[in-house]
Order: sequence, then structure tokens, then C-alpha cells
Amino acid sequence: MDTLPARLDSSDERRSKVNLMGLSRQQMEVFFIELGEKKFRAQQVLRWIHHAGVTRIDEMTNLGKSLREQLQVIAEVRPPEIVSQQDSSDGTRKWAIRVDGGGLVETVLIPAGRRATLCVSSQVGCSLDCTFCSTGKQGFQRDLSAAEIIGQVWLAIKSYDAFRPDSDRVVTNVVMMGMGEPLLNFDNVVIAMDLMLEDLAYGLSKRRVTLSTSGVVPALDRLAEVSEVSLAVSLHAPNDALRDRLVPINRKYPIASLLQSCRNYMAAQSDKNRVVTIEYTLIAGVNDTPDHAVELAELLRELPCKVNLIPFNPFSQSDYQRPSGSAVSRFWQVLVDAGYIVTVRTTRGDDIDAACGQLVGQVVDRTRRSGRYRANTEKRVIAAG
Ligand code: SF4
Repeated sequence: MDTLPARLDSSDERRSKVNLMGLSRQQMEVFFIELGEKKFRAQQVLRWIHHAGVTRIDEMTNLGKSLREQLQVIAEVRPPEIVSQQDSSDGTRKWAIRVDGGGLVETVLIPAGRRATLCVSSQVGCSLDCTFCSTGKQGFQRDLSAAEIIGQVWLAIKSYDAFRPDSDRVVTNVVMMGMGEPLLNFDNVVIAMDLMLEDLAYGLSKRRVTLSTSGVVPALDRLAEVSEVSLAVSLHAPNDALRDRLVPINRKYPIASLLQSCRNYMAAQSDKNRVVTIEYTLIAGVNDTPDHAVELAELLRELPCKVNLIPFNPFSQSDYQRPSGSAVSRFWQVLVDAGYIVTVRTTRGDDIDAACGQLVGQVVDRTRRSGRYRANTEKRVIAAG
């Protein structure tokens, strides 16, 4: 992580500039040392960008004039662009954000009392195809750059005009749970998460930054070597036969190898009191019976974890249904009786399609998946009509 990324895009002069927004502290130090400057310039620039919200290099007044002029030629501070903003009646705010290449991703801020959790995207679309996920139905365009990932945190704070020194903290928690599988965009996600934790940037505690994965086991093993963020795992099924159907990457990395990788991740943490969050989307008649709950309780016995149950949010390209309240309660009770800490995710931002699993950007699909799902939806609509 300590080498400078190649100049970002080479299509035109503007794009050939280094985007300082996406450089970790180490990368920024290398950048200034290569310019013949002292390392502390990196600290100054990080503070300007991530503490003060400044994007204009000529406003970074504690840099000498000639350095500012030099930086304006070779570098820029370029956040992604907000295309639209929607505010839910419950306080949830969702942004559609345009990224280079024409795609759109979505970012959601969910306030809850004194906390506000930002759900951040890591890819335009997703190359995996979890059957209950609307992002997966859109196919995959590309990975987001580190600047586009951390830029979502920057934009959220900017949108509340909260870079002022007297402002309350707008973002207290970040979850890498938006569009995309973060571990398939490993390097950029790790740089962005480093900036979330970095005191010269957002200074969040490692307990308040969570990476959620569907189970890319080799990348999770690598993550244990470089990061101490909190871990959430999208499990959604208590056995391989069912998980193979719901989360197809399970065919490559089955549950046993995933749970072993989780145990290794927790063992590598300096704080031994932390637990993995197991995400389990409850789908009516598919994985929500008491027998499934018993099987899940047995499966997780050796893992320090808590369980987050997520009643499925229906969307047009899926035939799955939301479970009844009593099915959710029964499932919850089995796990609680088995000694687990279990939460049920309340639906937030439903009126602006910001609820879990409903994030859809605009993906220039490089797979054929989005077309296939669109065709199936049209067939269903015609059949119903
Ligand atoms: S649940 Fe996550 S990993 Fe699965 S398709 Fe959706 S975005 Fe991708």
C-alpha cells in the first residue's frame, strides 16, 4: 500500500493528474518525497482534503506558492459527482453518485440517535450474483478507485456542510455494504478504509468501520494481514446446498472454509473481544423456518459472532417474498434460546429505495446478466397481465 498508484486515467490531461483524494497517508508521503518535499506536506494536504473539505489546491494556504503551482499542474482533488439526493421521511439520505466511465453508484446515510452510518459502495454493479440482491441483477461494470470510495464519505459530510470545525460529526460509522463485493476490489478498499481510520482524515475507530463480504476466502485471509476493521459476513443460509443457490460464490468457497477464514481473521485481531456479524437475509419459505434457525445455531457454535436478521426487501426482478413477522420472531427466538445476540434490521429509507438490498445504480453491464434479468421480468409482467 505504500507505492503511488499509476496516474489514474490517461485519456486527457485532466485525467492524467494524480487524484490526491484517493491517496493513503503512506502514498501521500511517497508522493511528496518524490517531489523533493518533506513528509509533513502529506499531513497538511490530508488535513485540507479530509478535515477541511478543500478541493482547490490554491486554497491550501500553508503550502508555499511555488509548491501550490506545481501541484496544480500534476495533481487534483476530485471527489465523485452527486447526481441526485433523496431524503426519506425517517431521516435516511441517499445519493446517486456519478463515477468516471459513466456509471452511477449509490451511497446511503442512516441516522440513528447520536450515530449515523454511511453505507458505501465499492464497485459499479457486482460480478457476483446473489439471488436476493438487486445490485447483482445489474451485472458488473468496474471497480471503484480509492478516491471514488473515500469520496463517498467526503461527499456525505459535504452535503451537510459539516467540514466546519464546529460541526458535529455527520458520519460516525461506515459499512462497506453498498454496491459491490469489497474484497474483489481489495487494494482500493483497503486504501479507503485506511483513510477512514486515519486521524489526519476521518479518524473513525476500527470498531466503527465494517467490511461486509459474501465470502471471498483468500482475500479475507489477506485482509487479516493488513487491516483491523470489523467484519460482517453475508451468510444467508445454514448449509452449503442452500447457500450454493443463494450466494453462488459458495460453490467456490464453501461455508466451512469461510467460517475458518472468519476465525483466523478474529484470531489475528489485537482486540480479542470482537465478534463477527453474521448477516442473514430471511426469505419467506426459502431459509426462514425454525429448522433453518436450529441448523444455523449449530453451525455458528465455534465462531465468536452476533447475528443480524434482515427481512427480505422485495424488488421487481425477484420472486422472493418478505417473511411474516411471526416467522421472523420464531427464527429470532431459536437463536436467542441458543445463546446468540440477535438483532433484526429495521427497514430504513424504504420510501426512497435505500433499504438493504435495494441499492441500484446505473451499470454499463460488462456481463449479460442485466439483460437476462430484464427479459425475465418483462415475461413475468406479460404473463401476469
Ligand atoms: S449481495 Fe453483495 S456480493 Fe452478492 S450480488 Fe449483491 S452486492 Fe454482490
